Amino acid sequence: MDPCIFCIIINGEIASKIFYQDEDFIVIHDISPKAPVHVLLMSVKHIESLQNVTEEDSEFLGKMMITVNKIARKLGIAESGYKVVINNGKGSGQMVFHLHLHILGGWKKEAGWKV
Ligand code: AMP
Ligand code: ZN
Repeated sequence: MDPCIFCIIINGEIASKIFYQDEDFIVIHDISPKAPVHVLLMSVKHIESLQNVTEEDSEFLGKMMITVNKIARKLGIAESGYKVVINNGKGSGQMVFHLHLHILGGWKKEAGWKV
């Protein structure tokens, strides 16, 4: 199996712009942002996709959602609004097979960004 780029980042083997880190999750700035604010919240544990979680991950997934809420506040986009996207499987555009969600926000009409 190819080495997982996100595991490599989590292990500190390549540099990335880490915004937040705790024992379960890491948040990095997306290398190719699709919005003025675009971060990736990934599990520290290697899980291929949302389709690979089970009932046993319920508490972990709840914590992941609460972390989104916390990160949106830290990023200053909680009030203005943001999107949360999880791609699942090749057909959805998932490119990195390590569970992560995209947090996108910070659009400003005057800056010409389209939501
Ligand atoms: P997905 O299509 O949901 O698998 O999204 C993968 C995301 O990871 C894309 O938005 C990429 O721009 C981003 N990405 C890939 N490699 C890196 C990297 N080394 N550092 C930061 N973001 C990355
Ligand atoms: Zn991985």
